[in-house]
Amino acid sequence: MGRIDMGSLADLKALLHQHGLAPCRAKGQNFLFPESIQRRIVQQIGAVPPMILEIGPGLGGLTQALRAEYPDSSLILMEKDVRFAEILAQRIPNSTLILGDALALDWMPYEGATLIGNLPYNVSVPLVLRYVRHADLFPQAIFMFQREVGQRIMALPKSKAYGRLSVMIQAYTKVSKVMDLPSSVFWPKPAVDSMLLQFHRLDPMNTLAFSDLEPVVAAAFQHRRKMMTYGLASLGIPLEEAPFQLRVRAEEVSVPEFIRLAQWVKTVR
Ligand code: SAM
Repeated sequence: MGRIDMGSLADLKALLHQHGLAPCRAKGQNFLFPESIQRRIVQQIGAVPPMILEIGPGLGGLTQALRAEYPDSSLILMEKDVRFAEILAQRIPNSTLILGDALALDWMPYEGATLIGNLPYNVSVPLVLRYVRHADLFPQAIFMFQREVGQRIMALPKSKAYGRLSVMIQAYTKVSKVMDLPSSVFWPKPAVDSMLLQFHRLDPMNTLAFSDLEPVVAAAFQHRRKMMTYGLASLGIPLEEAPFQLRVRAEEVSVPEFIRLAQWVKTVR
């Protein structure tokens, strides 16, 4: 990770002080401060995107790096904390700020945007699931997670971390790890380490609706230690007619097999 740039931390504290603000723990405000890391993160986007939607810009640290790296992209910011409105308007004049809960706000007007967000840990899972539901509309996303959650998202079959989250996300996106981040690059320092993940929509897209796959995966993982037939029985389907042997644990079933299974369930339900 290299040396941590404490100069950026001093700037961040000074900015808050100047506006008479303090980080709000309830809103999960842990600001990422080293400029070198902010730059590395935004460079991960690659080819210049026409539009970027940043979720939870906070004081605009990542946002400034985005603006510097992609001066011609339109930049939409969704931030829940109204206290940051003035700072964001001053620091990132050439952007559109939408105040509110990004989990509830409409994303559809920003179809085609690259999504990026360093969100509090309790928001990052619902956020990524919302993104995956609409992955056909958004070519890529970059989100921060608690390290254990990142490991669950990336997990492969036959591992302890493999579960609903891994299947639902990998069924619609290609996931890759950008970097691990120690808690020391955030201020205030959180109790856990982080992992930054990048998601690209699958090409070709999986055409099975999220809502058709979700109940099947949830039922299959209901009793992790038992064969998945126990959980799948709750769906009221003729299990003996399934396209492959279901007397296995859910954690042994690959993502393509789950998709096949859900496609079949759709035809017999
Ligand atoms: N992106 C900044 C950074 O990297 O330093 C801030 C990160 S801080 C962990 C998370 C930010 O997300 C805070 O500014 C917080 O107010 C905002 N936030 C939390 N929940 C949100 C939500 N549901 N919708 C939009 N913003 C949210």
